[in-house]
Amino acid sequence: EEEEFFDDPEDLESRPPIVTVMGHVDHGKTSLLDRIRDSNVIAGEAGGITQHIGAYEVKLDNGKEITFLDTPGHEAFTAMRARGAKVTDIAIIIIAADDNVMPQTKEAISHAEAAGVPMIFAINKIDRPGANPDRIKTELASMGYQVEEWGGKYQSQDISALKGEGITELLEKVLLEAEMLELTANPDRPAVATVLEASLEKGRGYVTKILVQHGTLRVQDILVAGEASGRVRAMFNERNKRVTEVGPGSPVLLLGLDGAPQAGEIMKVMASEQEARQLASRRAQISREQANRAAKR
Ligand code: GDP
Repeated sequence: EEEEFFDDPEDLESRPPIVTVMGHVDHGKTSLLDRIRDSNVIAGEAGGITQHIGAYEVKLDNGKEITFLDTPGHEAFTAMRARGAKVTDIAIIIIAADDNVMPQTKEAISHAEAAGVPMIFAINKIDRPGANPDRIKTELASMGYQVEEWGGKYQSQDISALKGEGITELLEKVLLEAEMLELTANPDRPAVATVLEASLEKGRGYVTKILVQHGTLRVQDILVAGEASGRVRAMFNERNKRVTEVGPGSPVLLLGLDGAPQAGEIMKVMASEQEARQLASRRAQISREQANRAAKR
C-alpha cells in the first residue's frame, strides 16, 4: 500500500531537526522541555505557548530552528517506532548528575541506538550539592559511550534545567549534530505527516496533532491517517494561532478527520475524498478481520 516517493535533489530544502528527550524518571525531562520552551518563543510572536500540540518549535538567536517532541519519555518514541514512524533525528539523553546511569537511561540509549538516532548526553542537576558529572561520564565511558571532551564521539553538556545553565550550549550542540545529518525535505509536494496524538474533544470533534515530514499541508487538503479520513478544516499552532499551511519539520493541530488515528500512524494527502474514504474503510475492514481471526484462535 505504501509507495516510495523520490524527490529531485534540486527540490530539497533544509528543515529543522526533530529532537526527543529521553531519560530515567525524575532526571529532568519535563524541566528541560519546559525550560527550552519558555526561553524560546518564535521570533516576532510573543505570548508563549498556549496549547500542547505534541511538539513545539524554537527559534534560536541565530535564526535556526529546532522542533522538540514534548511528550517526554520513550513510550511515545517506542510506540511510534513500532509503527515504523521515524520522527526523531536526534535524541537527548538526560541523566541526573546526582544519580547514576539508571535502567531507564540504558533503555533510552538502546532505543536510540536501535533507531539509528544520534545521541547527545545532557548531564542535568549540576546545581545540586551531590552532583558529579564526571562520575556519569565515567559510567557512560564504561558502557562504550565516551564523551567528546574525553576524546570520544558523543557530545555531552552539563546543564541545570532548573537554573537554566548550559541550555544555550546544549541547543548549539543539537544544531551541530543536525548540520552533520544534512536534514532536508521537499516542501513542494503533497504532505506526509506523522500522528503524534489524537482525541475526540467536546465541541471540536476529532483533534489530531501531527508533525509534517514531507511537503506542505494546507487547509482543505484531503487526508487519510490509519482508519480515519477527512478534509483539513482548520489548523492551529502551539500559540493557538490559525495557520493555513505548515511545512516539513513543523507540528500542528488540525481539525477535520472523522476518527482518531493512533500515535505514529502515517497521514497522507489524497487526491479525492472518495479515495481517502475507501482507503480508510479498507484498513478498518482488514483490522476487523484480523481481530475476528484472533478471537477465533
Ligand atoms: P522527569 O520525570 O524526567 O520529567 O523529571 P522532572 O523534570 O519532573 O524533574 C524531577 C524533579 O527534579 C523535579 O522536582 C524537578 O524540579 C527537579 N529538577 C529537574 N531539573 C533540575 C535541576 O537542574 N536541578 C535541580 N536541583 N532539580 C531539578
